[in-house]
Amino acid sequence: MNYKNPDEHGYYGEFGGAFIPEMLYPNVEELQKNYLEIIESEEFQTEYQDLLKNYVGRATPLYFAKNLSAKYQTQIYLKREDLNHTGAHKINNALGQVLLAKRLGKTRIIAETGAGQHGVATATACALLGLECIVYMGEIDIQRQAPNVARMKMLGAEVVAATSGSKTLKDAVNEALRDWINNPVTTHYVIGSVVGPHPFPDLVARFQSIISKEIKEQLKEKIGRENPDYVIACVGGGSNAAGTFYHFVEEQEVKIIAAEAGGLGVNSGKSAATTFLGTLGVLHGSKSLVMQTEDGQVIEPHSISAGLDYPGIGPFHAHLFKEKRAEFFSINDDEALKCAFELTKLEGIIPALESAHALAVLDKKKFNENDIVVICLSGRGDKDMETYLKKLDAGN
Ligand SMILES: *Cc1c(COP(=O)(O)O)cnc(C)c1O
Repeated sequence: MNYKNPDEHGYYGEFGGAFIPEMLYPNVEELQKNYLEIIESEEFQTEYQDLLKNYVGRATPLYFAKNLSAKYQTQIYLKREDLNHTGAHKINNALGQVLLAKRLGKTRIIAETGAGQHGVATATACALLGLECIVYMGEIDIQRQAPNVARMKMLGAEVVAATSGSKTLKDAVNEALRDWINNPVTTHYVIGSVVGPHPFPDLVARFQSIISKEIKEQLKEKIGRENPDYVIACVGGGSNAAGTFYHFVEEQEVKIIAAEAGGLGVNSGKSAATTFLGTLGVLHGSKSLVMQTEDGQVIEPHSISAGLDYPGIGPFHAHLFKEKRAEFFSINDDEALKCAFELTKLEGIIPALESAHALAVLDKKKFNENDIVVICLSGRGDKDMETYLKKLDAGN
């Protein structure tokens, strides 16, 4: 079974494909035809790898968390994506796609963003590489995420409010797709996760796969073997998880665990746990699991972490779920919050709320004393300080 690569039409099992309006065919086909040849070329890789090393700060450390390990009676390693430039894994993909866009002769970049992390990463890559950048963001998110809006503006991006629907992430995606239809020749759409029409899920997974490539090398050096017993990551759309799982999915001895946002509880009506609540459907250009009503209306998701507040999941992960190659846990808001404070106290690391969902798996599953457990710490917590302070003021 091949979990890692989609077929030529972009399918992972029954999930994936490219479900797009006809007017988007030229843009998407141009990418489908060219992406592999360009990103696998030596010239591309030389420039990309140099930027990852000297600009982003890779390789990120694989840190043995001694205090956390003692508490949970197992061997826990944290993959420190929080130490990347701009504070999360998203820059790995944004830089890769902007480099690709340049090679396709594009001069203008568009992106969607929810909490603003992907918008900041894309605006950063555009400032560095000299491309025009327009970021679509829900009107409500613009109000909620003022610091990231300011960062994007300082980086030279134009932030455009999406004012339709619920005025959040999915509406921003729709606005970005509309822009792309109107500007097919000049513009590349930098999608921020392993979602969207083929080839985006594969393209983004390849750019994030550096995470598991490094984990293998670092484990080999630290413990003498490349494969851990477990890899764990949180899943919004699924890009940090795809990167963390990528080089392990074909290695049957490595167990794979994904943490979704349970919100206030899977059955509360305020949740974002797509594998628990979703059914087969099409969202933003690909067939996958989607939170929807019986007649196909997308259900508003909820999570305390903006990065996991998405009503779908990438086709790569839907396939891992369906085939039972990965085990999925649903982590509620309060469980994630507790683990964010715990990591801070035990290890002096303030994690992003998204990453805290991955940490919370430690409370849900018992690991053996000698198990090697690698957890992807996808980002740092600066952006979540307001939420954390509220919790502190309420007496933690
Ligand atoms: C955006 C984000 C996520 C969720 O996105 P994925 O594509 O699922 O990785 C997780 N963690 C952090 C820190 C993020 O910024």
